[in-house]
Amino acid sequence: MKITAIRFAKLKVPLVTPFKTALREVSYIEDLVVLIETDKGEIGYGAAASTPVITGDTHQSILSVIKQFIAPKLIGMEIENLNQICQVIQSSVVANYSAKAALELAVYDLWGKLYQAPLYKLLGGGSQTLRTDITISVDNIDKMLSDCAVVVAQGFDILKVKIGNDLQQDIERVKAIYQGFGQQTQIRLDVNQGWNAKQTVFALQQLESHNVELELVEQPVKSDDFKGLKYITERVNTPIMADESAFSPKQVIQLLEQNAVDIINIKVMKTGGLSRAIEIANITAQYQADCMIGCMLEGSIAVAGAAHLASAKAQQISKIDLDGPALGQYDPVQGGVEFNGPAITLSDGPGLGIKSIDTLQPINDGIWPL
Ligand code: MG
Repeated sequence: MKITAIRFAKLKVPLVTPFKTALREVSYIEDLVVLIETDKGEIGYGAAASTPVITGDTHQSILSVIKQFIAPKLIGMEIENLNQICQVIQSSVVANYSAKAALELAVYDLWGKLYQAPLYKLLGGGSQTLRTDITISVDNIDKMLSDCAVVVAQGFDILKVKIGNDLQQDIERVKAIYQGFGQQTQIRLDVNQGWNAKQTVFALQQLESHNVELELVEQPVKSDDFKGLKYITERVNTPIMADESAFSPKQVIQLLEQNAVDIINIKVMKTGGLSRAIEIANITAQYQADCMIGCMLEGSIAVAGAAHLASAKAQQISKIDLDGPALGQYDPVQGGVEFNGPAITLSDGPGLGIKSIDTLQPINDGIWPL
């Protein structure tokens, strides 16, 4: 099965409620979809979101880097040579992880179609069902509490609470949420780099002294502050997780060698696709460190790839944070991974299992070669 062309399209899904973190606010899931065509008529699907303040990638940068630098090298390559294709994708250009991830997802989808097997089975096999947490956006305490009540009523029992825009308010938010929902749910905090190391230790000591038990705290300090992460990890009992600090396998080795964090958050948009996400899961196994699998605010095409990986690597990836598609008002993707409240169900269709995508808007000059 040979790659013959690469096409691009947009896919936009309105959110149920606007998504707010310490870094941004958005009201749509907007994906750039990458379609890889083959000489056998099969199409591979990949996608990526625009995340300029996280990865530095935008739809325009993803599209142009693929068209200009990567696509010309992929045309004619055989899908059975998966590792070689991934090598070409990873080495054609530095950084640009979302572009690489979108392409790798489409290539792995085709790899599954070539061998007529769902991706999670080809990656080693695993469970067809996963359970995800749900994000609670940062807001005033009353709004956050009512958002928690809504999702708990929907059956979610793990809350990922976004904070990080005001230290004292953040502490009050977490105390109130723990008081209201700490008995029936597990609570994870995502600070999105909003605190410094000393503030984090202060906040967590305050919370620990009030018997607030958190499952983990994600990325409290700036992404390049490995020393800060280590400072925190040495001083608090709450497990600390790296997100924006952990893009590459090398960064993960550095973090774990320095005992800077307890947990690594893997996202295919940070690793540049599945091949290096698999590498990171294997590295963390050597350090007996846990992983979370996460996603950007993205739809069910890209998140399907993450779900298949989480299923196959369940021994390393014990925490699932794949709520992106569930935050949309509907899922235009038919036949792929199903996102239904906290339940994620992998289909047994080949590759990612996607049959069709409604409301896909082709991009006019979005085809290579023309
Ligand atoms: Mg995060």
